[in-house]
This record gives sequence, C-alpha cells and structure tokens, in this order.
Amino acid sequence: MICPRCFTAATSARGATPWCPSCEWNLDHFEPSRRRPELGWRWADRATHRVAWRLTAGQFVRLADGPLRRRGASAARAVTLTVAVLLLLLVALFAGLGTWLILYDFPRFTILPGVALLGMAVALRPRVGGLAEETHLLDRDEAPELWALVDRVAAHTGAPVPHFVGLDYSLGAYTTVVGLRRRRVLCLGAVLWSALDQQERVALLGHELGHFVNGDLRRGPLVQIALTTLGRMAEMTRPGQSGLNGFVDLLVGIVQGLLSRLILGVHLLVVWIGQRDAQRAEYLADEIGARAAGSAAAVRLLDVLLMQEALETVIRREARAGRSGAAWRTAAAVARASLAAAVPALRQLSQRDETSLFASHPPTGLRARMLERRPQQPAGVVLTEQQAERIDREIAGPVERIRRDLATAG
Ligand SMILES: [Zn+2]
Ligand SMILES: [Zn+2]
Repeated sequence: MICPRCFTAATSARGATPWCPSCEWNLDHFEPSRRRPELGWRWADRATHRVAWRLTAGQFVRLADGPLRRRGASAARAVTLTVAVLLLLLVALFAGLGTWLILYDFPRFTILPGVALLGMAVALRPRVGGLAEETHLLDRDEAPELWALVDRVAAHTGAPVPHFVGLDYSLGAYTTVVGLRRRRVLCLGAVLWSALDQQERVALLGHELGHFVNGDLRRGPLVQIALTTLGRMAEMTRPGQSGLNGFVDLLVGIVQGLLSRLILGVHLLVVWIGQRDAQRAEYLADEIGARAAGSAAAVRLLDVLLMQEALETVIRREARAGRSGAAWRTAAAVARASLAAAVPALRQLSQRDETSLFASHPPTGLRARMLERRPQQPAGVVLTEQQAERIDREIAGPVERIRRDLATAG
C-alpha cells in the first residue's frame, strides 16, 4: 500500500490497518477491534476517538514548544472537587436517611428501605486505601543501595522521599499514598526493573517520584474518593440476575440499566475532565525522569513500555523455567534487540491504540517524542554497574518469591 498523500510505502505493526510512517496518513484510523469499547456504542466511540485525537495532538504541540510546569488551579480541578463533595454528601444523606427510616416509629415496614439505604452508604463509604497485598516492602536495612538511589533521585528532582518502597511482579511501577496519614509509597515492578539498564532505572525512579510533585489532580484525597466511589456505584448498579422472574425481573433490569448508565455517565465525565490534566502531569513526570537520568535513558524507558507484551512473555517463560535475576535481564535484552527495528512503528501505533478521552496517560510513543522534542538533558544521577549489581543482590530474595508467583500464575 502506498500513501496517497506523500507516496511513501505504508507501514503496519501487530496486524493493524496500515498507515504512512512519513506523513502519518491514516494513523488516526479508528480500529474498534484493537480497543476496549468505551461508551458502548461504536459510533460514539468513533466520535470520541476523533475528539481525543485532536485534544491529544493539540496538547502535544502546546507542551512541546511551551513551558512544561505543574499546573495550579484549573477548571478541571474545580469541577472534579465539586463532584467529589457532592458524592460525599450523597453518601452521608444515604446514611442519615437510612438510619431515620429504620428508627422511625420502629418497627415499621420503612425498616426495609432504611436497611437498603444504610447498606448502600456502608458500601460506598470513603476509604483511604492500603498497600496491595502482593507488594513486598523493602526497608532501608534490607535494601540500602536501592534506598540510597531513591534518596539521590529524590534530592536531584526535588521530590519528597517515599515512606515505603516495595516490589511487585508487574511490568510497570507506580506511586500512591496510603492510609489516613497519607504515607507515600513507591512500588516497582520486578519484571520491568529487570528489563531496564542502569540509567533507565534512574529514569523510572525519576518519573515515579515526579508524581509526588507534578500536580497530578488524581492524587488529591477528595478526587481519589470521588473516582473510587463512582467506580463502586457503577459496579453496584450493573444489571445482573435479580433472582426474580418475568415482569419484575424485566422492570428491575430496566431501572438498574438506566441507573448504571447514569452513574457511568457521571463517572466518565469526571474521568474525562480530569484526564487532560493527568496526561499533562504524565509528560511532566517524564521530564522529571529525564532530569534525573538524562533524556536518552528516559526515551529508552518509554520504548521498553511499548514492548510490554513481548517482555512479559519471555520473562514469564524464564520464571517457569526456574530462572530469575540475570536470566531475566538476558531474556529481556534479546527481546528488546529483536524488536528494536519495530520501535518507530510501535511508537506511531501507540498513538492510534492509546488515544482516548479516558486515558490517564498520553500515548507512549508521543511521550517519547515529547522528550526528544524538548531540550535534551544530561544525566543528573548516575547508577554505576557495581551499584546496580548490589541492588540486584539486595532484592534477590523478594524477586525469587515473585518468580514463584509468576511461574504459578496464569
Ligand atoms: Zn504519507
Ligand atoms: Zn506516570
């Protein structure tokens, strides 16, 4: 296939509809088979994809050429906070009304709706969140070299040091805050960690710690509550089997269906409003990662994320064969080398596949392009081979436990 605009040969990857690698003709093609349905109607998903494409491209241009700083107050923040407060009031109202109905002229038939309302309030009560069960926490005595690296990256980027550092088996990493005291947690996926070279690891830490300072709207306690409460409401109202038959069943189904669409609508609205800010925060975290590790390593880190599936496959294979540590790194290096030539196409394809109004992250390929477009930064924190090896030895125990989990899971 030849590009009708610039006559370059079209390219493809992963069986996607071809596009032009040069002028990106047809890259914005909507391919429902490659994405999860979002609103549930194909025409609507196609339309929102088009809108998202324009917003994503516009934001990229603005940020690539302008200042990339954290954002203070914004309309998105105001709207999201308002929804959060309203939701909390609604839950309080359920609790109050439920209690009143139960106690009102007790015992009466009003006890039934009362119990139902109170039950709903309990199910929707705000929660502070805790550590995921599969996280292996590493304290400073157990992993001094890793903690030293975290300290150095934090100092260089101006981010606060996390209270906990943990490992899990994912091919990713995240930061979060847990508990009423809002303790900062940094969790590194052992699989991703092992697939990275030294500076890429620094870039990963820089990016993740950057989330503590990038003004990410989703990190505020109220917004966290709003998003999880809405998610739980949608879950509760999803139509299922009521156990009743015939007409009643139909009626319950219709009411549930309407209610769940309504809640889904509000949920999507809040997510949609917040996600532009979130994507901006993600670009900023990448920039902070580049400040720590150097721009080149930060770009390579993103390219690794594009190869997620292949890396997961080879590392799972190694885990099943009873190998971890160095074997993971070797397997990852082989997979990365074999995919290196496909990176430009994978970066472009990520724009088609990951562009969404509801995506918390900009397309991975655009993040890499952003780092390449912005002023190049030298490495601020250097992880030597010896230090990296010491870290590997420190985490060998937990990694072995993670290997066993991986070998038995799925
Ligand atoms: Zn072209
Ligand atoms: Zn991030």
